[in-house]
Amino acid sequence: MSTLNTLLQVIDQEKLKVDKDMIRLAFEFAESAHKGQTRKTGEPYVSHPLETAITLARLRLDQETIIAGLLHDIPEDTSVTLAEIEKNFGKNVAHLVEGITKLGKLKYRGIERYVENLRKMFVAMAADIRVIFIKFADRLHNLRTLDALENVKRERIARETLEIYAPIANRLGVWQLKGELEDLSFKYLYPKEYKDLKNRLDANFSERRDMLAHMKHEASKALKKENIQILEISGRTKDLWSLYKKLQIRNNELERIYDIVALRIVVPTIADCYKTLGVIHNKWRPMPNRLKDYIAQPKPNGYQSLHTTVFCERGKTVEIQIRTPEMHRTSEIGIAAHWHYDEKGSIKFDKKLEWVQELTRWQQELLDNQTFLDSLKIDVFQDRIFVFTPKGDVIDLPESSTPIDFAYHIHTKIGDTSTGARINNQIAALETPLKSGDMVEIITDKNRKGPNLDWLKFVKTRAARDKIKANSPKGIWQALKGLGKK
Ligand code: MN
Repeated sequence: MSTLNTLLQVIDQEKLKVDKDMIRLAFEFAESAHKGQTRKTGEPYVSHPLETAITLARLRLDQETIIAGLLHDIPEDTSVTLAEIEKNFGKNVAHLVEGITKLGKLKYRGIERYVENLRKMFVAMAADIRVIFIKFADRLHNLRTLDALENVKRERIARETLEIYAPIANRLGVWQLKGELEDLSFKYLYPKEYKDLKNRLDANFSERRDMLAHMKHEASKALKKENIQILEISGRTKDLWSLYKKLQIRNNELERIYDIVALRIVVPTIADCYKTLGVIHNKWRPMPNRLKDYIAQPKPNGYQSLHTTVFCERGKTVEIQIRTPEMHRTSEIGIAAHWHYDEKGSIKFDKKLEWVQELTRWQQELLDNQTFLDSLKIDVFQDRIFVFTPKGDVIDLPESSTPIDFAYHIHTKIGDTSTGARINNQIAALETPLKSGDMVEIITDKNRKGPNLDWLKFVKTRAARDKIKANSPKGIWQALKGLGKK
């Protein structure tokens, strides 16, 4: 079991510019806030935010994010408020925790709706992508401890991870996380298929291991002879879920998958990468059409490496990946490798715009063109707020919209029959300006004759304004009266 010391060790290993006293304080704050609470696994609750923070430190995130990871479940699950977090740890940390609390309110109810919901939240939060990393880290630990939950919940979380989180992690290039998120979900969603595949792989595990060891030895020898410095050389096995998906398009024949095992070679410079490729091709015959130069042409998410597949003994094939240390870093933690620390030790988001573009590109693949255009509009209109229905759907509205705007956005009938509202479960006046993250519920009265013209004084949306004018019985009456006077 991890302790505060485990976290501090990771911080040292990764050489993070972090004030360890502040981390210690945040841990103690979380420990006392969650005092007496336990996880379904029986462990003290604080083990969960601690594991979340450890993942964030491994991803080399900054101090604010690691602290927010430690505090992320406090507003939702304890009596300690966001205001107290802000008082103790500052505005930025409080903002990150607030972002996580809001994302947590989204409930998964079918992929289309959920993607739509997440899209809005993600675009709104693209200004601070750290929230999404905290969410990934949070989810990873929840998946690791999924055994403790009942079946239905387990399946929902696993499916949500596979369909939503993993594609986003992939888009952001965080493969380390992506692979783990997918394989954990795979195990729960398709237990039989998972076991079968694992058994098939285990059957010739030792053969593959020996082959890799042999190649590693031979490659090292050949590279040394050419005076190429090897910084790292290691074998890796393809993640199970991506292998499973590949098998489905390859007739389920393991023999037709060429990258089940790969040899990774890390060398100092780009020139060394190409030299290494030459040495490898000189030693083993390359398979035709399998050479991919992602150095000259990086993948959209920034991934760079040389890939080639070669024939080794007995006609077996092995993929070889050649890269520099910088490329290796990017391949493991993706976008997180690109941010840098300023003098004060906080992360600088110089690539902010690229992230938004990356997210919108991803959306483009998932959604039709009209929705994509709408998403661009949301980017442009910074003065939007995002509020929730009681079922967890996200509605976006102009700033200072009111429950009446919300009601008309949901349905004309709901607008017309509104008599009151609950904001975050508290009765509120219909003219109350809404804030991002509010959960809004409209109280209606079937017998109500129609909208009140006074509402025109405070509504913000055109849709609400038009419908109030059109459907107000008093409106018609006044219009008639006005006509009579003339
Ligand atoms: Mn959590």
